[in-house]
Amino acid sequence: MSIQWDSFTNIIDGKPRDAQNKHYGVDPSTGEQSYPVPIATQQDVDDAVESAQKAFEKYRFTPIEKRKELLQKFSEAWSKHSEEMTTLLCKETGKPRQFASWEVNAVPLFFGHHLTLDLPEERVEDDEKILTTRFTPLGVVGAICPWNFPLVLSMGKIIPALLTGNTIIVKPSPFTPYTTLKAVEIAQSIYEPGVVQAVGGDDKLGPMLTAHPGISKISFTGSIATGKKIMAACASTLKRVTLELGGNDASIILPDVDIKKTAPQVVMGAFQNSGQVCVATKRIYIHESIYAEFLAEMVAFTKTIQVGAPESGSLLGPIQNQMQYEKVKEFFDDTRKNGYKFAVGAESVAAGKGFFIQPTIIDNPPNASRIISEEPFGPIVPTQPWSDEEEVIARANNTLTGLGACVWGKDVAHAEKIAKRLEAGSVFVNSFEKPTPQAIFGGHKESGIGGEWGTDGLKAFCNPHVIHVYKS
Ligand code: NAD
Repeated sequence: MSIQWDSFTNIIDGKPRDAQNKHYGVDPSTGEQSYPVPIATQQDVDDAVESAQKAFEKYRFTPIEKRKELLQKFSEAWSKHSEEMTTLLCKETGKPRQFASWEVNAVPLFFGHHLTLDLPEERVEDDEKILTTRFTPLGVVGAICPWNFPLVLSMGKIIPALLTGNTIIVKPSPFTPYTTLKAVEIAQSIYEPGVVQAVGGDDKLGPMLTAHPGISKISFTGSIATGKKIMAACASTLKRVTLELGGNDASIILPDVDIKKTAPQVVMGAFQNSGQVCVATKRIYIHESIYAEFLAEMVAFTKTIQVGAPESGSLLGPIQNQMQYEKVKEFFDDTRKNGYKFAVGAESVAAGKGFFIQPTIIDNPPNASRIISEEPFGPIVPTQPWSDEEEVIARANNTLTGLGACVWGKDVAHAEKIAKRLEAGSVFVNSFEKPTPQAIFGGHKESGIGGEWGTDGLKAFCNPHVIHVYKS
């Protein structure tokens, strides 16, 4: 299959579809305009939904073994394009090549794990009857995706939706449309028209999907504010929703940690992907007995981090888009204005080509500060000391969000005990946040509703269908 890596279309009913109006991404390393992409219209959405509904009537009855064969072929086709995909992802997101390559290579892990999963019927029998609970596909899934991990987060919806017998229409973020459109293009040589489609566009497109009566479920990953709008919009057609939203993850450092080994890990938890990770560490609570030493190690490691363009061998890349860049800068302004202490990093963001920000640590700002109470989604993180375990657990939980959290300590059993009291969907002991396809991923409180990945995540793409058979 020959793919053009510099021209982009929507994929509707198995065919490329252009549009009269176009928009452009921006290469965040240079600030330059990238390739044109079509802006899908209401007609395009209607056509995609009609095609997906038609395809569903056949695909829903395709046995799971056959669906796995198709996924296997999709995975093989994917792997043939990993180099081109990595290059495109670098241009689209500005990620350093090694991390773009990590994201591209994480997709086969998602395929691989899902190929081991099944959703078998559950059977309960008594003298009188047999109860069989089956899990049947919902219909057409609309996947609405963010820009921070455009591939993992769109393929993380496509793979389970297809495994469970749904058809799917994917909408990438307007900031990062390129790799997702190509991923769906690759799928066309494997799937019948309408099984997996992609529509990209402007701000009007998401609401067209959430309002459409022919879509049965919206699988959304993005901000809390948008998640609330999506849930409200889906209420009118009672669509199923999975909302994977933002977080303000706490990391608790116990007094017995190996400081030299742990501090760089904690820094990476905060600054991975330049802090543009839903489960990045966003508040760091260090025991007061080691506060100064631990912070000094974090500062020393942060000073070694190079920030630059994808091919520069740097550890961190730019902020992905101008809007987010301006938002992150507000946290620098707020910190400076209030006189909080910069432990490391520039006190303001230098202007220049590309949306680059040096990783920055703020030493002990108050609880009410923006940097403690809000998600910056960029490379700026606060630290605070603690002395009382009950109090720090309460402080970590004192947020409306609950996506991820970490506990670091030599006494693993004790760290795990604390982990169990943290109100978050995924808690990591002695690691920074590393979500994996093996486990359901979702948020507590305002960080989301439901979850995806792992066997439990498959159920998010299904209706339970219970057959009650009386023996006489
Ligand atoms: P966003 O909410 O601005 O946009 C996400 C998607 O929603 C985009 O495709 C956008 O076009 C679309 N959208 C915007 N308004 C819409 C509407 N009214 N109806 C339907 N669709 C609409 O989020 P973002 O800036 O792309 O991503 C960053 C946020 O996502 C952060 O808060 C981050 O924590 C969160 N996030 C969460 C997870 C998770 O798995 N929980 C993963 C990654 C990112």
